[in-house]
Amino acid sequence: MLGAFGMAALRRRLHGRSVLAAGIGLVALANLESLRAPFQAMVFDGARIDAFYYCPHHPEAVVEAYRQSCDCRKPQSGLFTRAASDLDLALETSFVVGDRWHDLEAGQRVGARGVLVRTGYGKTEEASPKSHVTPSAIVGNVIEAVSWILRAS
Ligand SMILES: [Zn+2]
Repeated sequence: MLGAFGMAALRRRLHGRSVLAAGIGLVALANLESLRAPFQAMVFDGARIDAFYYCPHHPEAVVEAYRQSCDCRKPQSGLFTRAASDLDLALETSFVVGDRWHDLEAGQRVGARGVLVRTGYGKTEEASPKSHVTPSAIVGNVIEAVSWILRAS
């Protein structure tokens, strides 16, 4: 089964702030479309998801067309720079919320502040800090991340 490794869902204009939420992990490409509605349903308070981005590549992908090193597979930041270009976002005033250090590292590369959530892989990641990745905050879940972002900016 072909997988998409990492998906960046972009949630924009949270009271004027841009939030890049990194999540999902490995899913079949065929299932990506079916994830849009549940993601949209999680958005609240009038915020919206402007776009979804994902990387279908892997250096050892079974399907040759996707077997490559690319700039969009985290910790590379290609998905974020593409979103910034498409949606006119200022990454240096944006936030990346994710449960993996490579999510935050991708954000760090483009000057965004990173928030690690303890859901998903987050607790495990928190127990194994990376010296080259500095989170701006570590919080319990996405709701707490939103609260932190509202206080921090
Ligand atoms: Zn890629």
